[in-house]
Amino acid sequence: MDYNKLAELMFPTITKTVEDYERIYPKRNLKEGAQVTRFAPSPTGFLHIGGLFASLISERIAHQTDGVFILRIEDTDKKREVENGVERILEGLKNFEIKIDEGFTDFDTCVGEYGPYKQRERAEIYQAFAKKMVSEGLAYPCFCTEEELTEIRNIQEEKKILPGYHGEFAKCRNLSLEQIEENIKKGLPYVVRMKSPGNPEKRISFKDAIRGNIEMPENIVDVVILKSDGIPTYHFAHVVDDYLMGTTVVIRGDEWISSAPIHLQMFYLLKLKAPKYAHIAPIMKEDEGGKRKISKRKDPEAAVTYYSEEGYPVEGVIEYLLNLANYTFEDFRRNNKTAHWSEFKLEMNKMSNSGGLFDLVKLNDVCKNKIASYTAEQVYDLAIAWAKEYDSELYSLLTRDKDFSVAMFNFDRNPDKPRKDIGKFNEVRNSFSFMFDELFDGKYEEIPNVDKAKQKEIIEIYKEIYDENADKDTWFATLKEVAVKVGFAAEVKEYKANPDAFGGHVGDVSTVIRVAVTGRTRTPDLWGILKTLGKNKSSDRMEKYIKELN
Ligand code: GLU
Repeated sequence: MDYNKLAELMFPTITKTVEDYERIYPKRNLKEGAQVTRFAPSPTGFLHIGGLFASLISERIAHQTDGVFILRIEDTDKKREVENGVERILEGLKNFEIKIDEGFTDFDTCVGEYGPYKQRERAEIYQAFAKKMVSEGLAYPCFCTEEELTEIRNIQEEKKILPGYHGEFAKCRNLSLEQIEENIKKGLPYVVRMKSPGNPEKRISFKDAIRGNIEMPENIVDVVILKSDGIPTYHFAHVVDDYLMGTTVVIRGDEWISSAPIHLQMFYLLKLKAPKYAHIAPIMKEDEGGKRKISKRKDPEAAVTYYSEEGYPVEGVIEYLLNLANYTFEDFRRNNKTAHWSEFKLEMNKMSNSGGLFDLVKLNDVCKNKIASYTAEQVYDLAIAWAKEYDSELYSLLTRDKDFSVAMFNFDRNPDKPRKDIGKFNEVRNSFSFMFDELFDGKYEEIPNVDKAKQKEIIEIYKEIYDENADKDTWFATLKEVAVKVGFAAEVKEYKANPDAFGGHVGDVSTVIRVAVTGRTRTPDLWGILKTLGKNKSSDRMEKYIKELN
């Protein structure tokens, strides 16, 4: 058969050759060891937490080696595409501060010399590669109809034969040039299939950067490379794009492992060097005693928007994902308390084959530690940025008096042992509701060991001698003074040694004042609360509580 003639017949308008494209997209000039990675989402919905995980890993591997991280949009499947699909993905990546070097770096910005970065805009490029394969007898047109393919599938199912277009089932492999010419003239639709040289007896092996050696049967199926509208399948687009874009390591979900033999065969047929592969296991979740993938349908935490809405600090989420990727991140964090997460060196061979277990409790813990490590100013900035978007009432309360809010976030923020009360910014409202009259609900927790009359007495005395300018030690001395006046022990020790001699101790005095002012028996630093609320407000609250006691 004259394959060149066949190629011209099938692709009369494709004039650029593979060699032309190799000139247009020359090899990258990067330093030794620099890795080129990419995140290649299909715009089919929200950004999944697994997508953020994969892009974080790809971004790290690229930037740890002074390489390049690309965002490529795989929009070959129009049916599954959703409106604003690209924007949603970009927004997710931007919210989590994933730095993209090439491709879509922003909503309407696409940069880089290896584009277009949207596959539909690359149709001619794929066709040039397909044309080359046809001209070398490595690919052919297939005119089989849906019905014929279904029939093949049924026979294969019945006879328990490997499904797909191969061997005796690959009818169109044997069409003559004349038959093909006639079909094309008639306008019959066709796909282009790779002519697989695979041998069912043989196996291939490759080294996965995460999983080590993988051995699988060779591919024997003549897979489709171009669909009938000239748009490539995922398999072919992956091979062409990652070759021309100079990807050095393809980091992708492990659902693609089973297709790796097809991809390696395509690289082989095209005489191109295949990139390395790293197949990531999906993020798992505990469910009814077992493990399952985090599901788009069942789990709100599958969507990255969930973390933004809840107000998890970005750095906390990223650090949690790094933790999930490499358990050694925890040691790094312990030994480098103030280092930025990007100083951690991620290693693909330390990633789990079976999928890290996602745990919201652990995430919250990491985020609590993260927020505890910030200055009060930083917490303020992040809290108002969150509230501006998700809680407008809180936003106006927090920004009404910045000094007040910063002082509030500064309670117990001592560098050695900071208080860890909030893990996400939607907890600010509840954690600090007592600081704002608008949020203070006027409910009071019980104080079981001090009766109402005594509580009243404590507050009356305290109100008279409280000096809002007193430092913490002087203030505490005042509480002791009150304790003695009402017949309580000034020291807890003293009380414990002789409980019958006292009605309570200084700690009870502070509890009474705490509840009067905040409604709660447990709060951060009471001295700070009183000082920040100011004498007027504190006194008003105490008056109100006394009324409540009557
Ligand atoms: N578009 C493919 C997907 O979303 C990309 C897989 C890959 O990274 O190669 O699964």
